[in-house]
Amino acid sequence: MIFNCLLYQINQACVMVSLHRTIRVWLKRDSGQYWPSVYQTLSSSCSCMAFNPETRRLSMGMDTGSEFILSEDYNKMTPARTYQAHQGRVTVVLFVLEMEWLLSTGQDKNFTWHCSESGQQLGTYRTSTWVSGLQFDVETRHAFVGDQSGQVTILKLEQDNCSLVTTFKGHTGNVTALCWDPVQRVLFSGSSDHSIIMWDIGGRKGTAIELQGHNDKVQGLCYASHTRQLISGSSDGGIVIWNMDVTRQETPEWLDSDSCQKCEQPFFWNFKQMWDSKKIGLRQHHCRKCGQAVCGKCSSKRSTIPLMGFEFEVRVCDSCYESITDEDRAPTATFHDSKHSIVYMHYEPTTGNLLTSGTDKVVKLWDMTPVVS
Ligand SMILES: [Zn+2]
Ligand SMILES: [Zn+2]
Repeated sequence: MIFNCLLYQINQACVMVSLHRTIRVWLKRDSGQYWPSVYQTLSSSCSCMAFNPETRRLSMGMDTGSEFILSEDYNKMTPARTYQAHQGRVTVVLFVLEMEWLLSTGQDKNFTWHCSESGQQLGTYRTSTWVSGLQFDVETRHAFVGDQSGQVTILKLEQDNCSLVTTFKGHTGNVTALCWDPVQRVLFSGSSDHSIIMWDIGGRKGTAIELQGHNDKVQGLCYASHTRQLISGSSDGGIVIWNMDVTRQETPEWLDSDSCQKCEQPFFWNFKQMWDSKKIGLRQHHCRKCGQAVCGKCSSKRSTIPLMGFEFEVRVCDSCYESITDEDRAPTATFHDSKHSIVYMHYEPTTGNLLTSGTDKVVKLWDMTPVVS
């Protein structure tokens, strides 16, 4: 994972760190233009960052972890502390003001948390692969850790130890982004397998809803709670804005059968029935809506099923195809092209702006405020 630049926007300032060992702060001037105010060279390149606007604390993950404090007018930056947190490159940093904790993960496969007041390490947890997504719920002190194996681990943090709560496995690729909505108590995970999964943590029913709307690796996830929209960005430049006000259903488990559950023709491994009925075995497919095992002839049509998270056309059996109305096919997401390969995304709720940074080293600022007609 290579970041060309990382950024954060708050009020009128925009903090940007690039791989070229520099940190820049841009300020919005009266003219509406952004002008550089701080330019500082770092001792090593920065891989991830977290910014807390209340304390103006900028936590950066490098080969070790470092912290800087930005002055009130965002025109000056002073080093605050260095954390010797990891043996390898830091992959994610997260500052939790309520706890005064700095959480971090590294390529050394360690998840650690430090007291940001004393600088002391409080605890550590060994992960099976290195971590690429990290979120924290202040209310229950649960940390959500997404890793390279595609797994999401939930840890309950205490002052100086932690316990494993549970793990979720739903992705076939590595987890690239995590986003926690503390109000709905829902966790979103994005993956290199192009999908997003919405895990209903608060509902405690174990529901996991898949969102299929990207053609490439999901790179960033942000939740706009006031408009109830999930914003996702992918490497091919796609930005999808998901309406999370709609109730989506889980995709069904795929059923197993030795013959088509519609026309009853045997599948090719079912030699006995093939012999008995003197028929050639057919290839097995699955209807994405009912989960039934069907042959190609009984599932020749394709449809979008937005209420199941399928914004693209997928295979459905003939009877399900008949049951899907035009109303059901109404998209529940909008699709946009950022025209650069997204590596990082940040949504700022106070301004309604979305920032994307790309492999082209360009930072784009998008106005996400709804158009009132
Ligand atoms: Zn069939
Ligand atoms: Zn079906």
